[in-house]
Amino acid sequence: MQAIKNGQASIAINAFTYNTRVVPVASYVAQLIPLPDSFTERFDILSVIRFANCLRHSDMFELHKYGGLKIRSISVSCTAALTRTALKTVTEWPEWVRQMQNAYNEFSSLDLLRKPGQTMLSQAPLCPKYWDSLPIALNLKNAYDGFPNSKYWSEGGAIINTKLLSMNKNRPIVPGCDFIMKSKGLQKFVYEQHMQCKFGLDFPIHLQARISDMFSPYLVEWEKINFFASLDACKAFHIGNSMKIIKTWLNGWHTSSRCQAVQPFPCLFGCHGAQDNLYH
Ligand SMILES: [Zn+2]
Repeated sequence: MQAIKNGQASIAINAFTYNTRVVPVASYVAQLIPLPDSFTERFDILSVIRFANCLRHSDMFELHKYGGLKIRSISVSCTAALTRTALKTVTEWPEWVRQMQNAYNEFSSLDLLRKPGQTMLSQAPLCPKYWDSLPIALNLKNAYDGFPNSKYWSEGGAIINTKLLSMNKNRPIVPGCDFIMKSKGLQKFVYEQHMQCKFGLDFPIHLQARISDMFSPYLVEWEKINFFASLDACKAFHIGNSMKIIKTWLNGWHTSSRCQAVQPFPCLFGCHGAQDNLYH
């Protein structure tokens, strides 16, 4: 990431490097261990596309629909990789979970020897809190179950499990079963389902809000300016140029007045006595 930030490459090359070098590294590890909940990718993506903080999270992944860059989401890729591993790559985990359950049951039978009032062993979770992460077997089980306890992934996980079930004619999905092993592009399917579920499709509305805000207190007469035709026309340009147009509409340039420079530049287009900002 630091190399992308320091490099002088075009944003198209930045996005390519990000999608092919940064995202795969994270999702390789995430085949077995999920990303921590504290992980954020927002600021990395903003520096890849060199925008100021003017996009909502979902908008970053919609730019390609309007002629801009296609960015892959690390967090969604990681979740998709873990789900694919649980279903297709490492299919022995139900056996491992069973072993943990057996060991747990054996030890918790010691509860009988405890005095009344003492904490019972059977109230403890399946693995102690001081471990760095959950056991891999439990990670895989969690992914297979569709992340039922995660506020980010449970909805998409439930949709995926329902869809897989109906694709398999309502026969239960067992890790490594024939249906799963024969299905191609499983990870891509999971990725797309989570993307659809997590992110809305209302980028143009956000764009309009940013433009209205830029012209305030004047009102933008939307019915007269053919906004959607312009947005369509934007798709025909070269990626770099479309991104510049979108960036302007979003008020996403790092102007000197925005960067709180000690001495903001005057208007770069030469207006007398005016400051370097898009509102002007
Ligand atoms: Zn000007």
